[in-house]
Amino acid sequence: MSATLPPSFWPILLGVLGAVFGSFIATVAIRWPEGRSALGGRSACDGCGRGLAWFELVPVVGFVALRGRCRTCGARIARGHVVTEVLGAGIGLAAGLVAPGWEGVAGAACGWLLLALGAIDLAAFWLPDVLTGALAVVAIGGGLAGVAPALPDRLIGGVAGFGALWMVAAAYRRMRGRIGLGGGDPKLFGAIGLWLGWRALPMVLLVAAFAGVAVVALMAIAGRRPAATDRLPLGTLLAGAAYLCWAV
Ligand SMILES: [Zn+2]
Repeated sequence: MSATLPPSFWPILLGVLGAVFGSFIATVAIRWPEGRSALGGRSACDGCGRGLAWFELVPVVGFVALRGRCRTCGARIARGHVVTEVLGAGIGLAAGLVAPGWEGVAGAACGWLLLALGAIDLAAFWLPDVLTGALAVVAIGGGLAGVAPALPDRLIGGVAGFGALWMVAAAYRRMRGRIGLGGGDPKLFGAIGLWLGWRALPMVLLVAAFAGVAVVALMAIAGRRPAATDRLPLGTLLAGAAYLCWAV
């Protein structure tokens, strides 16, 4: 079947799907930590509660058409919303280009799960086990379906990823007497190990650390002095680094 499809089929399909998922993910990231249901998506203005028309819900296009504001009350639509839509589309587009076919669909699914994890960690310093678990399940499913890396590499990656960050967290607790690493970070790194295999883990850590340093440097350039209590969400850095390592 895929022989008759034009080469642009998978990138366009996954890109459009990604924009829709990105819109849903943004809503989840805003509402889930507050204990509100995200089902039904962003169906009302966060400012005035007015129900939104279908064309206002079209990802990216709706935001641009409304110039980022509610038609009724003029409240700004959260910037994070359109950023997440664009990232969701970018993840799908990249997966369709890198691996046209079902392997790309699986890669995009992992990418969207990582986008959701990264967005929720950024918003609330929280990595829901249910999403990390879903990433692990898709990763093991890929290994069973014969997608590289091989299953043993993935299983070693899962144990090594979880174990490495768990030990860092335990050492930090012992030395500093406080928690410096969220409990969800070792689980996420383990799921990333299941997905990419153990060989990819040092590169994922390196890219995440580099991105963290870049963010701190950019904040310094922008004149924002980081406070002692400021924490960078490690999960967000790991999620972005993992997807980059898969796609590049
Ligand atoms: Zn409004």
